[in-house]
Amino acid sequence: MQYAELLADPVVRGVTVGECVDGAEWGETADYKEVAHAHTRSTHDRYVGHICVKSWDDLFEGHQMRVSAVVLEELAHLRADAGHTEAWRREMHKLGVSVPPMHRKRKR
Ligand SMILES: [Zn+2]
Ligand SMILES: [Zn+2]
Repeated sequence: MQYAELLADPVVRGVTVGECVDGAEWGETADYKEVAHAHTRSTHDRYVGHICVKSWDDLFEGHQMRVSAVVLEELAHLRADAGHTEAWRREMHKLGVSVPPMHRKRKR
């Protein structure tokens, strides 16, 4: 997906790079170990629809403004308005992104 397409997505209100949209430095955010996070409605803050990314390198994959898989994962969170749930997995599938192993459903 192109960056322009991401920004045009109805669920996306904005993308912030290098810090959180709420002004917190990356190291102060709850998910500071991740390279990106999304503000879903379930976070109950006024930045719903924002995706925050640690750096420009984490935002893009290769050339031509293609957004990275981690950012698509955050888009899936916004679309599902949820954490790592079944609804989120479905959105990941629609976006054609593979679900990271740690968030796969465990088979018994
Ligand atoms: Zn943020
Ligand atoms: Zn996630």
